[in-house]
Amino acid sequence: MKLIFLGPPGAGKGTQAERIAERYQIAHISTGDMLRSEIRNATLLGAQAKSFIDRGELVPDSVIIGMVENRIQEDDCKNGFLLDGFPRTTAQADALGELTEIDYVVDIEVPSERLVARISGRRMCPDCGAAYHVTTHAADTCDKCGAKLYQRDDDREETVHNRLVVYEKKTAPLIAYYQERGKLLTVDGDQAIDSVTDSIVKGLAK
Ligand code: ADP
Ligand code: AMP
Repeated sequence: MKLIFLGPPGAGKGTQAERIAERYQIAHISTGDMLRSEIRNATLLGAQAKSFIDRGELVPDSVIIGMVENRIQEDDCKNGFLLDGFPRTTAQADALGELTEIDYVVDIEVPSERLVARISGRRMCPDCGAAYHVTTHAADTCDKCGAKLYQRDDDREETVHNRLVVYEKKTAPLIAYYQERGKLLTVDGDQAIDSVTDSIVKGLAK
């Protein structure tokens, strides 16, 4: 199965992707996690991406498309994959369409007024990419691997606003793009985490 998770920053794409990828035994591909790993490893790609990420802008299509093209050819994608945070522009969606056929695009809807609180309270594991929220996770270490959690620089309030503007302008048009192609499954993301997972699983089973 090949899936895309769409939705604004903070919608819960990463949280749900981890669960759904495990359930269907497919690879979880988060372009944001891949870019953060490039930055940590001080690669050329990481250096190119950092200034865009820090400003809440999108990394250029040419960089991202090549990165995803290579990634989906890896062995762990043979059974399928779940793209989390890609595509984010029509050009990326067109390029992906040339590479492979997607089964479903899951659009996780959350009212915009909830997003800032979700993003500003997010704490991330640097090792496994798990996301927590300060209101529901008091410890400052990851439950899964024990690493010390951190706050992403681009989760600070100054950058969050621009990320939401960029989402509306460049990524939200993909909802209609995939609807027109008969791929869209819309899920209410403004429910408890387990309920969102149930809604996705039910939608995919239809
Ligand atoms: P995205 O990958 O779409 O940017 P995340 O999965 O990282 O979003 O979730 C953003 C924040 O919201 C995290 O702190 C996460 O723990 C929290 N979160 C995710 N899903 C829910 C939910 N259904 N209800 C409340 N908080 C959530
Ligand atoms: P995310 O972890 O999905 O919130 O992504 C963090 C940041 O990485 C974004 O704000 C962008 O700067 C960059 N990024 C991640 N995925 C993409 C993509 N598909 N296209 C362009 N930039 C991306």
